Amino acid sequence: MTGPELRVDLNALAANIAVARARVAPAQLMLVVKDDAYGHGLAPIVTRAAAEGVTWFGAFDVREALATRAAVGHDARIFSWLTVGPDQIAAALAAEIDLGVGDAGFLEQIASVARSAGATARVHLKIDTGLHRNGIRPEEWDAILARAASFSAEGLVRVVGVWSHIAEASDAEDDAARAVFDVAIAAAETAGFALEVRHLSASAASFARPEFRYDLARVGAFCYGIRPAGGPGQDELGIRPVAALAATVTRVGDYAVTLGVGSLHGLPSTLATRASVHVSGHRQEILHVSETHTTLAPWEGAVVGAEVWVFGPDGTSATDLAEEIDTVGEEILVRISPLVERTYRGR
Ligand SMILES: *Cc1c(COP(=O)(O)O)cnc(C)c1O
Repeated sequence: MTGPELRVDLNALAANIAVARARVAPAQLMLVVKDDAYGHGLAPIVTRAAAEGVTWFGAFDVREALATRAAVGHDARIFSWLTVGPDQIAAALAAEIDLGVGDAGFLEQIASVARSAGATARVHLKIDTGLHRNGIRPEEWDAILARAASFSAEGLVRVVGVWSHIAEASDAEDDAARAVFDVAIAAAETAGFALEVRHLSASAASFARPEFRYDLARVGAFCYGIRPAGGPGQDELGIRPVAALAATVTRVGDYAVTLGVGSLHGLPSTLATRASVHVSGHRQEILHVSETHTTLAPWEGAVVGAEVWVFGPDGTSATDLAEEIDTVGEEILVRISPLVERTYRGR
């Protein structure tokens, strides 16, 4: 090994998916694959997940949704929630991508693209349940239902879902959001829509709070084995990290051991003097992170060429590092540069 490597264990992904599915059943699992599958590499992740029987995928934008479609074929359902322009809507309809609709103007655009394409768009209307990050405000809900009903009568759209996103930071806030969600669902059903899927929760609420699962649980982090910062541990959740970052010892000095991985590879330089790495059972402090190298406190028996796991399945996890610099494990993973080679086990 020359440069650092991100080693992705697809068997660990499969095991986490099995845990998540068992946990959320009878709701279905939607595997969220935004940010290049949380930095793990989209195509190998979705290919293995599909082989494990995952039928719903959640993509941030149409570009990611199309890449998912190319990898998993035509049986899977793929949901894309970023509002995009007409060209991307057309591409999404051609690839049978389900579109999340968080504002009235976007619904108009979808209907107009569907009309020119002679297609029917499958849409999931998003109610703003308090997060105020895109979503139809409750006071505008009835109006959009009426608009959707008229497009639906024309065969331009089919409302297959109602969804929202919650903060998962406090139970009380989430409960308030869920009450708004329930009112929106009831209104959609009264308006005559036969909803296939209602979806509200991400990893944390999907695992901890059954009443948040509805028909579909949108799980990202936990399927990648990323435990929440400051939350329950991996063992409690029954998950394990899918990715490990391996680096090589390039120099052994009296005061430091140098690894061939640095901030240009995506390691936050702020980890220095705050976080440590497990090396053969010991915690070695990170002394400094330069652009291309990282120095650790020295240990007995360190040799040039040895391999060190900066984070991985045993010892230090991405969330362990993240907690030392007040961020989350996802950030450690999505920062890993695309230049870092990804290798896959269980492909
Ligand atoms: C990221 C995201 C999720 C998944 O969140 P996790 O906490 O990683 O499970 C679900 N839904 C939406 C809309 C998201 O943006």
